[in-house]
Amino acid sequence: MKYIFVTGGVVSSLGKGLAAAALGTLLELRGLRVVFQKFDPYLNVDPGTMSPFQHGEVYVLNDGAETDLDLGHYERFTNCVLSRHNNLTSGQVYESVINRERRGDYLGKTVQVIPHVTDQIKARIRELSDESKYDVVITEVGGTTGDIEGLPFLEAIRQFILEVGPQNVVNIHVTLVPYIKAARELKTKPTQQSIAKLREIGLQPQVLMCRTEHALDAELRQKLSMFCNVAPEAVIEVRDVAHTIYEAPLMFHAEGLDALVCKLLGLQTPEPDLNNWRKFVERVVSPQKRVKIAVVGKYIDLQDAYKSIYESLTHAAASQDCGIDLKLIDAERLQDGVDGQLKDVAGVLIPGGFGDRGVEGKIKAARFARENKLPYLGLCLGMQVATIEFARNVCGIANANSTEFDQTSSDPVICLLDEQRDVTNKGASMRLGTWPTKIQHGSLAEKIYGSDEVLERHRHRYEFNMKYRDQMREKGFEISGTSPDGLLAELVELRDHPYFLACQYHPEFQSKPNKPHPLFKGFIQAALAHQG
Ligand code: GLN
Repeated sequence: MKYIFVTGGVVSSLGKGLAAAALGTLLELRGLRVVFQKFDPYLNVDPGTMSPFQHGEVYVLNDGAETDLDLGHYERFTNCVLSRHNNLTSGQVYESVINRERRGDYLGKTVQVIPHVTDQIKARIRELSDESKYDVVITEVGGTTGDIEGLPFLEAIRQFILEVGPQNVVNIHVTLVPYIKAARELKTKPTQQSIAKLREIGLQPQVLMCRTEHALDAELRQKLSMFCNVAPEAVIEVRDVAHTIYEAPLMFHAEGLDALVCKLLGLQTPEPDLNNWRKFVERVVSPQKRVKIAVVGKYIDLQDAYKSIYESLTHAAASQDCGIDLKLIDAERLQDGVDGQLKDVAGVLIPGGFGDRGVEGKIKAARFARENKLPYLGLCLGMQVATIEFARNVCGIANANSTEFDQTSSDPVICLLDEQRDVTNKGASMRLGTWPTKIQHGSLAEKIYGSDEVLERHRHRYEFNMKYRDQMREKGFEISGTSPDGLLAELVELRDHPYFLACQYHPEFQSKPNKPHPLFKGFIQAALAHQG
């Protein structure tokens, strides 16, 4: 079993997760079986209770784990399917250590960061060390070297390397080499200091991945190599990608990263075949046509809040040799009317969300899409607002609402799931993870999916109120997918519309570069047809 640890230095947001994911792509294409793990040093047990302002998107796994968005990169860039074992937070580590202490597992001992907390972290790395399944475990450590919170993780990694032997491990440090305009020079000092911090803890990286706005010349590489104690060929230049994050594996390969890592780990592997990946990138970079799609949400100013949705749109568009022009619309700005803001788009997507801020604007956007036969894709809350809209404006149920927004609504067309009625804790308590959906015969969804049963990932507390099913169906609102027992609405569509599909689940968590999700692909095809 081989291990790669990815740490980050100097500043955050250097794209460590992407670097780990893209290295995973290359190793997989060399025939290795790769699995990922993310360590998050914060004290939340999981990011499920954090706001998108704090954390960006919460990425949901098959088993219902609410995780860091880097796990989305890992799943999109490789074939791995992750579970709750692949994201470890300080909150989880301390929770389990304290539970064990209460149980008496450490009876007689003082419980300490070293060895008890670090043992727990090492145990989680070992959990993935299953040679029948994987060849390489890539572990990314969140945060920046030098953070107090990150220390136990780094200490655990130091001990772990001692246990498995340095020949089985590569440490990669992702760092910033800033350009100082006044001096017209790239500066290596922050990287030197970051490495010094790591060495203080007893970790010596073998590979430096240097984020830089300018090329690293031979002299600079030499300097970084000497001061940071890594081989000159292990100083990898990481420039901003020109167009798309999917260029990262190609860039890293050109820099020799995958060959180097395999050499350091003593792995004999063939050169990766990057043809399909390259073709995908070409379609993203220079598509034949373009289509304009509106995303109406609450967090459109945050790049990371709807990450998987934007990626899914990119995958679907590339499959149609098409580029996406995103029009990001703050739902609150539509409260008083759509006002021409959706006139120039070929499709409307409404993502998931919580709380009533912006909801009336989303309802107006859904109405505009329905009335103007504009392709519509509603995801989770996007399905719930489409339901409220149809109930109010087509079925004449004036007070239709979700009990999430109006607990006293006389017509709760969306209401709390039965299983949620006695739930008081907010953490990991929604209807989460993969559940099957039975698709109705003859529906648009069946045509789009080409299947009558699908597995999709969920994250919600509210659901369609089946009491309104018949009344709404009569007017053209079809529930085209349900849970196998028929009790929960999973997918709805409008009979009299070219593409109005909305689902209670999150298809955006299952789209990949060369495997776009059918609902997104159908949406882009419909948008292209709409724009003519
Ligand atoms: N707030 C809604 C619910 O809990 C929708 C959730 C979502 O969009 N993820 O059901």
